[in-house]
Amino acid sequence: MAEKYEGIKFSTRFMGGKKDVGYRLIKEMINSGRLLKKNNLTPGTTGNISVQASGGLYIKAAGKSLGELTQKDIVYVSDYIQAENKALVWDNKKPSSETPTHWLIYRRFPKVKAVVHAHDRVLLDNTNLVEKNKIKTTKQKTSYGTLKQAEQVVEALSYSNYVFIIEHGSITVGSSIRKATDLMIKVHNKILKDES
Ligand SMILES: [Zn+2]
Repeated sequence: MAEKYEGIKFSTRFMGGKKDVGYRLIKEMINSGRLLKKNNLTPGTTGNISVQASGGLYIKAAGKSLGELTQKDIVYVSDYIQAENKALVWDNKKPSSETPTHWLIYRRFPKVKAVVHAHDRVLLDNTNLVEKNKIKTTKQKTSYGTLKQAEQVVEALSYSNYVFIIEHGSITVGSSIRKATDLMIKVHNKILKDES
């Protein structure tokens, strides 16, 4: 069972400016989204990806399908103010509901340059496979898009680049979006193969 989507749980301040993402980065993020979608890892508009750059992070806009990203669907978050639960955003689109988690990961792990989050149904529907494959999980059930969940994820990521968020989905991190994406797909395909 996965938690029901209830919208964005932080506020957004639009800074008005525009940030040029750079062609290569956009292309890599679009490719990553397509690959995750192709492997059935992001049903509907679930899942999100981000890259750390320019002192902030580029992340998928809220409510967009990862399989159909365009340049316009990538939002630049220059900061997230923890005390106010507020994201500072350039351009005029709301960033993914799970922005606080991405933000906290980059803050705690400066070497991490990309984060991939998927809703892998194989693991969500067969939680016994999480244990069977010795996948690191968050300690407690928490609500998505909250700092509480972000802290749980960060704690688990100290042990592994792949973490299963209880009743929610999977997170991978890497030194590039390609690496984080490949790890997500690799684990998924290995489990599928073992169970077939
Ligand atoms: Zn999610």
